Amino acid sequence: MNYHVLTLFPEMIEQGLRTSIIGRALADGTVTLETVNIRDHTQNKHGKTDDYPYGGGAGMVMQAQPVYDAYMAVRGNLKKEPRVIYVTPQGRVFNQAIARELAVEEDLVFICGHYEGIDERVLDEIVTDHISIGDYVLTGGELPAMVMIDAISRMIPGVLHNMESAEDDSFGDGLLEHPQYSRPEVWHDRRVPPILLCGDHAKVDAWRREQSLIRTALRRPDLLETACISPKEKAFIAKFLENQEKL
Ligand code: SAM
Repeated sequence: MNYHVLTLFPEMIEQGLRTSIIGRALADGTVTLETVNIRDHTQNKHGKTDDYPYGGGAGMVMQAQPVYDAYMAVRGNLKKEPRVIYVTPQGRVFNQAIARELAVEEDLVFICGHYEGIDERVLDEIVTDHISIGDYVLTGGELPAMVMIDAISRMIPGVLHNMESAEDDSFGDGLLEHPQYSRPEVWHDRRVPPILLCGDHAKVDAWRREQSLIRTALRRPDLLETACISPKEKAFIAKFLENQEKL
C-alpha cells in the first residue's frame, strides 16, 4: 500500500504517522507514505493557494490549480488511476468495512482541505470517493486522513504482528470486543473475572462471546441488526435485557 497525501501541512502527517505501529510499518516498507505540499505547486508568485469565495461569505477557499497540479505530480508516477479520497464532512461516514475495502488498493491518494474547503471544480475532476470521519467539522483534513490511514493500515497483512491481531477487535465480527484484563489479579479490590484464570480456552471463548454480546446490546444496539448472531445468542441477549429492566 502506498499512501499519497496532498496537504498544506505535510509535517502534521509525517509527525502523526511516523510513530508507533504505523511508524514501524513505514520503516520496514510494509506501507509507504508520500506527503505532497500543495503550496509547492501553486503558480501564484506569492505562494498563495486560497482566495475569496465567489458569491461572498466568510472564509477562504482552496483554489483548483495548486490542488490539481499537486495531484498530477503524484498521478504521473503511478501505473493506473488511483482511488482519490477527499476527506470531507460531506462524505459517507468512514467505518471498518470501508477501511477493509480500501486496504486492498495499491495506491490511495488523500486530499486534505482547509478553510471553507476546496474549489468544487477540481474535486469534480479528480476525486473518486468523498469520505467523512463523523458528523462534526474540523479545521482541516489532516486528522481525518491520519485516522483513515491508521485504520486501513491495520487491515494490511504484516502491519500488525500476531500479538496485535485485528480479528478480535471491535467490529471484526460486527460486535464490540469483550472487556480486557491484565495483571495484577486484584486491583483496588476489583478481581479479574475468575473464568479468565481457569485455563479452559473453550470456557474463556464462550464467556468472551457473551460479554461481547452484552456490551454491544448495552452500548451499540444498532450493531446487533447487522451482526452475525445465532438465534440462541439473540435469545440470550433478550433474556439479559429483560433481567436488566427488572433491576
Ligand atoms: N465548509 C465545509 C463544510 O461545511 O462542509 C467545511 C470545511 S472544514 C472547516 C475544512 C476541511 O477540513 C474540509 O475541507 C475537510 O477536508 C476537513 N474536514 C473537516 N471536518 C471533517 C470531517 N468530519 N471528516 C473529514 N474531513 C473533514
